Amino acid sequence: MKVVGLTGGIGSGKSTVAKIFEQLGVAVYIADDEAKRLMNEDESIRKQIITLLGPKAYKEGKLNRAHIASIVFNDKIKLEQLNAIVHPAVATNFNLWKKEQKGDYVVKEAAILFENDGYKQCDYTILVSAPLEIRIQRVLKRDNTTREDILSRISNQWEDAQKILLADFVIYNIDLKDTSSQVYSIHNEISS
Ligand code: ADP
Repeated sequence: MKVVGLTGGIGSGKSTVAKIFEQLGVAVYIADDEAKRLMNEDESIRKQIITLLGPKAYKEGKLNRAHIASIVFNDKIKLEQLNAIVHPAVATNFNLWKKEQKGDYVVKEAAILFENDGYKQCDYTILVSAPLEIRIQRVLKRDNTTREDILSRISNQWEDAQKILLADFVIYNIDLKDTSSQVYSIHNEISS
């Protein structure tokens, strides 16, 4: 079973592309959702996070994302320590999930793939790319957020130019029909 890593900056359309793969019958694992779920539900992970970030890491039993973000975005070491708790748990969970899937390949969607070693565990990688201004407009429409906040999140991610060098496939997601055609051709190439 091959693993295809799918990534892209915020607003590039990686969730949209993931849905097109799902429509083709490909099993898709959304790593960020699973990480959140494990941080909320896995007792051992909860304990480790509370030891690292304090009891305020959870509020009314739920992950206190605003509090965690306010710590780790200002403290690189804490961010690395948090990742060292969450990433191996997600990797284990992904491997168990993968064993239950059918097909030639599965897609693993992750916001961060090239910035860490995630891409090395993939047989193929796909980068979803779109012009910066289009991405900003999409996220403004989708989320209750500001341009400044989006730009700050974008500045925490690698630029597409850096990621393109490592990606096996690049999907330019501007016109949706055209995006679907690009997904179909990648699907044919990977399946054969
Ligand atoms: P990401 O997961 O990369 O942050 P999404 O797939 O959620 O991006 O896309 C961001 C927003 O833009 C969503 O509301 C989505 O429906 C919309 N969108 C994505 N691709 C297109 C496109 N090609 N044309 C129009 N809207 C799009």
